[in-house]
Amino acid sequence: MSLPHPVTGARFASPVPPGSGWPDDPGAATTPVAHTPAEVVSLADTGDLAELDARVSVCRACPRLVAWREDVATAKRASFAGEPYWGRPIAGWGDPDPWLVVLGLAPAAHGGNRTGRVFTGDRSGDWLFAALHRAGLAASPTSVHSGDGQRLTGVRIVAAVRCAPPANKPTPAERDTCAPWLAAELALLPSVRVLLCLGGFAWDVALHQLARTGRPVPRPRPRFGHGVVAPVGDLWLLGSYHPSQQNTFTGRLTPAMLDEVFATARERGGRDVR
Ligand code: SF4
Repeated sequence: MSLPHPVTGARFASPVPPGSGWPDDPGAATTPVAHTPAEVVSLADTGDLAELDARVSVCRACPRLVAWREDVATAKRASFAGEPYWGRPIAGWGDPDPWLVVLGLAPAAHGGNRTGRVFTGDRSGDWLFAALHRAGLAASPTSVHSGDGQRLTGVRIVAAVRCAPPANKPTPAERDTCAPWLAAELALLPSVRVLLCLGGFAWDVALHQLARTGRPVPRPRPRFGHGVVAPVGDLWLLGSYHPSQQNTFTGRLTPAMLDEVFATARERGGRDVR
């Protein structure tokens, strides 16, 4: 059954077939598909960011996550029953030549997995994009759907694991299977100066990836904490509590705390502090 896209009105099946006209779909019907961890390693070895995004967006290397993301896309949440669901991996999104990368955990089942854009269409994303806008890095304070006109300047947002996991918990094997996509993406972003990790999971994945790619990770490895800054070669690793509902509802993370984090990012990234 096809349903109308909330912004464009074009009709799509759920999950969305690659190259069928979804706004910002990086994939095409001919994009090669990784079915195994070894194929992720092989296909991540492309020297082109747009092609990397395309290959990420059609990946099928984690059977449990593929089944989950597609089941969610078919069943839908009742409040989104009239919408098509993306139901595919979420590629990195934003400025293709950023100085700042924001690294999250994984897409939300009814957020990114529905809208096709990282941190878009859920409460966590509402907090993150509002903060990015206040920091002068996003065109709009909201990011509700692909095709909504949102635009990032100097920033790219990526997820450590690119498919929505059950209970927001990827397994260690799924984390490791997805890691080559992130490693390849970071290698294709030479202007990055600050890697902002939302939560301890993202922090640990970032340190692991940076060590694997030969960066001088300090020993002992720096521990995650909100506002912690650690130098890794010519990069700064910066930690922030994740803007999950658990953290924002309880006041563990406030808008002012996020604003401070982005001010630190601007300072360490050599940008004018606003
Ligand atoms: S989590 Fe990553 S490696 Fe696994 S299927 Fe999704 S995109 Fe592929």
